[in-house]
Amino acid sequence: KTPLVELRDLKVHFPIKSGVLFDRTVGYVYAVDGVSLSIRAGETYGLVGESGCGKSTLGRGLLRLVEPTDGEIVFDGTDVRSLKGEAMRLARRRMQMIFQDPLSSLDPRQSVQSLLIEGLKAHGLANDRADSLRRLRETLDAVGLPSSALRKYPHEFSGGQRQRIGIARALVLGPDLIVADEPVSALDVSIQAQVINLLEDLQSERGLTYLIIAHDLAVVRHIADTVGVMYLGGLVEEASSDDLYREPLHPYTKALMSAVPVPDPVVEDRRERILLAGDLPSPTNPPSGCRFHTRCPWAQPTRCRDERPALRETVSGHKVACHFAEEIAAGRIRAHEVEP
Ligand code: SF4
Ligand code: MG
Repeated sequence: KTPLVELRDLKVHFPIKSGVLFDRTVGYVYAVDGVSLSIRAGETYGLVGESGCGKSTLGRGLLRLVEPTDGEIVFDGTDVRSLKGEAMRLARRRMQMIFQDPLSSLDPRQSVQSLLIEGLKAHGLANDRADSLRRLRETLDAVGLPSSALRKYPHEFSGGQRQRIGIARALVLGPDLIVADEPVSALDVSIQAQVINLLEDLQSERGLTYLIIAHDLAVVRHIADTVGVMYLGGLVEEASSDDLYREPLHPYTKALMSAVPVPDPVVEDRRERILLAGDLPSPTNPPSGCRFHTRCPWAQPTRCRDERPALRETVSGHKVACHFAEEIAAGRIRAHEVEP
């Protein structure tokens, strides 16, 4: 399938201001620092990593909710970063976002009807009242809410229902791509599966493409076709969900996976226990070379510290940014203790 979205060397750097008038740039937060990836039409791309690794900023940068510093965003063949005014508005209608906490992203004083109609208005789609209302009812029905929800306010709903409203708000504009930033992490575990199932149903009914951002690998495991792992602003591994979970190649991915319980006895047996030493380094002053070298149990002298590994394909479709992925997989390099 052709890619719907292609990011080429995307960078989002935030200036750190200082001085009396905060007009002097004293450094940068390298939140996203050169990410290339593509998402095929109709697929679900899961983006995972610790909080602070840049995954949310990548999602916002893709939609230009924050302005990228450099790189290309190609959406359906068009370079989004070159679009202005009306053309950007049209592109944005096709790319919608769902946020983590449905309460904080919904205005408590607005009824569901006015929340949903706001988006239609912003895109000049609310000219006919009867037609708009029909559209809202249809959308609510699609997310499993009755049309009586239109007259209610966000606080009258449960967390799971509020996330359904968040999904409806994205859906009402008829997008092709939905970026979902931690869509279920504020919800009870029992509700998480319902929302994930709803997203899957909507995808197959409407041919949607998803970028799902999560810190929890378990959340994206079943819904994602492809999974990308981010560390300190860079993509360190990318593979089909099956391949990634069967055989993670990057030491950071191995560590992430050894931190989550896997309800699969076969996988459990082979899992290495890797404890990450130290905290996530600051994205204002990232380590040289491989950004993971300060915490990597397999780091080798000089090369890991001096040379930033490129994301490269090892076996078909499995990409990793580690100089020694093959040696580690074959057991030719042994893990060592890392001084925190
Ligand atoms: Fe570890 Fe070196 Fe691979 Fe980075 S390049 S993950 S430091 S072994
Ligand atoms: Mg985040």
